[in-house]
Amino acid sequence: MHSTLDKGKTIIRTLTRHGHQAYFVGGFVRDRLLGIATDDVDITTDATPLRVGELFEKVVLTGEKYGTVTVIVEGTPFEVTTFRTEAGYADMRRPDNVRFDATLEEDLARRDFTVNQLIMDADENILDHHDGLDDLNAKKLRTIGKPTDRFTEDALRMLRAFRFVAKLGFDIDADTFEAIRTIGENIEHVAIERIRDELVKLFEGNHKRKALLRMRESGFSAHLPHAEAGVARLAKTPLDYDPDAAFATFVLETPEALDAYKFSNRQQKLYRTAFNLHHQTREDGFKPEHLFQFGKDICLFVNTVNRIQGMKDAEADIIAMDASLPIRAVCDLAFKGEDILKETPYKRRSDIGFIIDHLVLEVINRRLPNDRDALRKEAERFAHTLPKENPHE
Ligand code: ATP
Ligand code: MG
Repeated sequence: MHSTLDKGKTIIRTLTRHGHQAYFVGGFVRDRLLGIATDDVDITTDATPLRVGELFEKVVLTGEKYGTVTVIVEGTPFEVTTFRTEAGYADMRRPDNVRFDATLEEDLARRDFTVNQLIMDADENILDHHDGLDDLNAKKLRTIGKPTDRFTEDALRMLRAFRFVAKLGFDIDADTFEAIRTIGENIEHVAIERIRDELVKLFEGNHKRKALLRMRESGFSAHLPHAEAGVARLAKTPLDYDPDAAFATFVLETPEALDAYKFSNRQQKLYRTAFNLHHQTREDGFKPEHLFQFGKDICLFVNTVNRIQGMKDAEADIIAMDASLPIRAVCDLAFKGEDILKETPYKRRSDIGFIIDHLVLEVINRRLPNDRDALRKEAERFAHTLPKENPHE
């Protein structure tokens, strides 16, 4: 099996052998120079998507509209994108027209930051058209060209600047930062999905706290939808956390965020659970019933969310409670629904539901053993306390 680098080189060599220009570009080159391993490889070429499709066996037309095809070599995917220029960003979201007859110089000039336009050929020569190496050494994020122009073309680039701070720990160059301070509000015109996806990457970064602090200093976070309070909270915590805990914090601080960010069903469910469980555990902490109902992983997740809110760490409690749960599901009860139906006079679904919920609570809190006779007696006793049958039901 060849390395990702070697497989990428075969793509570049195939393209150049057929008279095309082709280079590694973007994050792969930048991260390689910084000694950060990455398998996410972008290649830039003057060959059109159609031409790339002809030259390689395994090709997936991923983003043809934007000139991107995925070439698969020995199971590894490579994003191969045709040189392009983008003109007219009337809506500050997407270029009005993308031209694929661009030169290499034009393709590099349309990129966001100087450290993101470095290219490398198949012999590992680095080419630098916009002083990216100087900025890489100085650990600086600087736009290619005038920052206000570049951020007016595409306001998402401002958020990307913070995303790269989070990933690389770099500083934002003074002029670039000043531009964000001045026109940060333009982010309000950007599609929420693009914002959300950059935030995910920001929260995956090792330097996210630095990024969040800079975001606050620049005033930029105030323009992100329903994010200001969440960002302020996260900027205070020295803890590590993942994107889910970050978004759950957004939702906790500003419930409107739950709908605004067009989260997946999985995310919505998780953040809603975190919201509820946070409020249930705020005063008295986690209880066996939380472990029983939500499971250990969700409780540990909410523990992280709680700690971001300044609550004390309950991890050891959660793990101990989970390990000593006498039952993990209703069907583990020694006396359950079908037994109630057979052996007691209670036949109503709602009564049986109340009795079972009660028995579960007694068992997981160890007030009763999970024992048939003990549970039957308690079921009878508890059933007497239930309201009598409603004649209208
Ligand atoms: P990562 O390693 O985190 O993926 P990356 O630099 O590869 O970082 P991508 O979002 O994958 O970032 O984009 C690939 C390249 O495309 C960038 O390095 C940059 O050159 C260019 N690019 C992406 N988005 C934009 C944008 N909104 N404006 C200008 N150039 C962009
Ligand atoms: Mg990338």
